[in-house]
Amino acid sequence: MNLLIIRLIIFAILFFAGLKLYRMYREWRIERDDNDPRMNDGNRMVRCRYCQVHLPEDDALRDRGEWFCCIDHRDKYLEERPPEE
Ligand SMILES: [Zn+2]
Repeated sequence: MNLLIIRLIIFAILFFAGLKLYRMYREWRIERDDNDPRMNDGNRMVRCRYCQVHLPEDDALRDRGEWFCCIDHRDKYLEERPPEE
């Protein structure tokens, strides 16, 4: 009889632990889905100053406060821009 009670208690503990884990997992999923991917660090979308194409920040080049999609466009933009004082 005692063994049965112990088994029931273990089962209950496992059940509630599983339920808690499932809830934590679900909350984590909801939190992740709520975040706008464009607002996440490292996954922000930026626009090439030269050709206006949008690309992830990770793939973009940054030079003098401007974003560029490739070295070629950065060089072209800097060439065409009037020199700074
Ligand atoms: Zn470009």
